[in-house]
Amino acid sequence: MELDSPIQDVKGVGKQLSSKFNKLGIHTIADLISYYPKYYEDYSKITDIAKLKTGKHTIKAKINQVSGRYVRRGMHITEAIASDETGSARLIWFNQPYRAKAIISNKYYLISGDFDLRYQKFAMQNPSCELEGDLPVNSGRILPKYRETKGLKSNQIRKVIKNILPLINSTQETLPGWIIKSNKLISRSKALYLIHYPKLNKDIEAAKARLGFEEVFELTLSALIIKQLNSTEKALKIKFDLNLAKDFIGHLPFKLTDDQRRVLWSIYKDLEKDIPMNRLLEGDVGSGKTVVATMAALMSLKQGYQVALMAPTEILAKQHADTIHSLLKPLGMEDRVGLLIGKMSSKSKAISHSQIKSGNMQFIIGTHALIQEKVDIKKLSLIIIDEQHRFGVEQRKKLIAKAGHMPHVLTMTATPIPRSLTLTLYGEMDVSLIKQKPENRKPIITEICSPNSRDAVYDKIITQLKAGRQAFVVCPLILDSEVLKGLRSAEVVYKELKQGYFKDWRVGLLHGKQKTDEKSSIMQDFIDKKLDILVSTTVIEVGVDVPNANVMLIENADRFGLAQLHQLRGRIGRGEHQSHCYLMQTDSQAPTRRLRAIEGTNDGFKLSELDLDIRGPGAIYGTAQHGALDLSIAKLTDVELIATARNTAKQFIEREENLVQYSHLASQVNKLLGVTNLN
Ligand code: ADP
Ligand code: MG
Repeated sequence: MELDSPIQDVKGVGKQLSSKFNKLGIHTIADLISYYPKYYEDYSKITDIAKLKTGKHTIKAKINQVSGRYVRRGMHITEAIASDETGSARLIWFNQPYRAKAIISNKYYLISGDFDLRYQKFAMQNPSCELEGDLPVNSGRILPKYRETKGLKSNQIRKVIKNILPLINSTQETLPGWIIKSNKLISRSKALYLIHYPKLNKDIEAAKARLGFEEVFELTLSALIIKQLNSTEKALKIKFDLNLAKDFIGHLPFKLTDDQRRVLWSIYKDLEKDIPMNRLLEGDVGSGKTVVATMAALMSLKQGYQVALMAPTEILAKQHADTIHSLLKPLGMEDRVGLLIGKMSSKSKAISHSQIKSGNMQFIIGTHALIQEKVDIKKLSLIIIDEQHRFGVEQRKKLIAKAGHMPHVLTMTATPIPRSLTLTLYGEMDVSLIKQKPENRKPIITEICSPNSRDAVYDKIITQLKAGRQAFVVCPLILDSEVLKGLRSAEVVYKELKQGYFKDWRVGLLHGKQKTDEKSSIMQDFIDKKLDILVSTTVIEVGVDVPNANVMLIENADRFGLAQLHQLRGRIGRGEHQSHCYLMQTDSQAPTRRLRAIEGTNDGFKLSELDLDIRGPGAIYGTAQHGALDLSIAKLTDVELIATARNTAKQFIEREENLVQYSHLASQVNKLLGVTNLN
């Protein structure tokens, strides 16, 4: 038997059982070893029979007077009497006729089970019993509880694990000795033994500490290795020109916030080096990241280099192109901006391509197709990525091949991520935050409403429309659904509003099933104020900037996640007018903690901490596909663990440890290096 032997090779695992194991994702012995318990039930303490109370107990007793019978068809009962020095108790098993034959009289057994009333008599029900002296499996110990499937329960999993204990005990160490020592960890084999076979409660802690450390260590080490790989590449040095920056700022219709300035300063410092920048800019919706991006690009433009800005959708790309065009106009640099999106005619695409190639088009804005298509951007000095994408090792390689060097990379996200998560999920990047909102911004007023105040909410919306503003109405579904009764769909709400309350207004409909062209033109109509109300699904979520829209009604708000509600709400509150967000509940029930949180604050960072608390890391928007979330033991909320693991990973690199020496670690790190979601 080897670690990579199929599970069927283990004693006691036949074809049938092995297919059940497969259902749980366990194919090899190694899979089973790393199939960690979900929780434990402590049956390790032995209770005197005289002291038995209702509940779960273990007794140490002899078993006599065993008898089995059918009480009715299909119902077999085995009864017995267990006795120790203090007294005796009844045992009862249902439909386990083999019990009677298996029990040897006058031997001591460890008997674990539920002591309770049945047929007016107290008895231990369906207890497990094992001869005292053997290594116990299902009795008289701390019992691990595993995720189960039909026909494969924890007691069977425990039996199979018992048969592979020799293999567990000979598991090789995966971490360097100095790491184990300095972090006071137990060995890997001991940890794996104890996670399945703890003697004491503190064994579980020790095992989890070791295995959890290893998980986070791998994660942070991979991040630091990417960081190191990145720093060995050469980028173009971009000189900072103070006068140019001042000139640009002088033409802005507003004052930059302190956070914007601080972030820009870090970016400019990075760009002056030939080590490629890899910076994450986290700024809540509406915090003004576009200006920062434009200013980051400014110095490259001056020097004759190229910059690519990638947006997740064509609508956003166009909007960015317009914004940036007008931001650069006062400096006479607007002609250097160009758009490259899939939808362009092949003729204008060809023109763009040749302008990019000649270097006349310096600031190229598009979707990520921009770096995938055969575009010749030789002087690419900086890539700016807007929203939710990140660069993996593969993309980096492609870019280096294309440009001949590694460009500086600025990734921007409107997803506020709790700090502990930033270090693990984005550990390979330097992080800048914009926490302040622009000064002129009035906080959005958010109100939870119930369906019986619907008309009053509509009236408030109409007041805003009369003042020349626009409104979003967001629904959880496109079409009404049989299954999801009570949820309002965009199609139905659209018709209802258009023919009813809002018949004097121009109502539009936007959802994900529409063709890309149709979506763009509807969105464009809304931007151009040809529509007053836009009924939509969550497709409007990302990035769209319509400062004149200052009202949002979210239908079935209780059905959305906290992060999503915050993202949606970020579509308003972008102009000088006071904005309102109405959270319409499905029923008139008391509002959930989530809704009250969103009503109570506009601070995305606070909300993300809360979301992490309520729903765990999987809830953090945009992190779902990240391999980092597959952790089975460690908690990404464990700030202390993350800090220690990261420090250790730093030491590992500083000591110039050779990863090849640690094959398990190397393969884990390799897996994580491939993690990317730019596709
Ligand atoms: P986001 O960070 O969500 O991408 P944007 O860059 O779209 O935000 O900015 C939102 C709006 O705020 C834009 O209309 C922009 O012109 C404006 N803005 C940006 N910075 C400032 C500032 N310092 N003061 C006032 N308004 C600003
Ligand atoms: Mg933006």
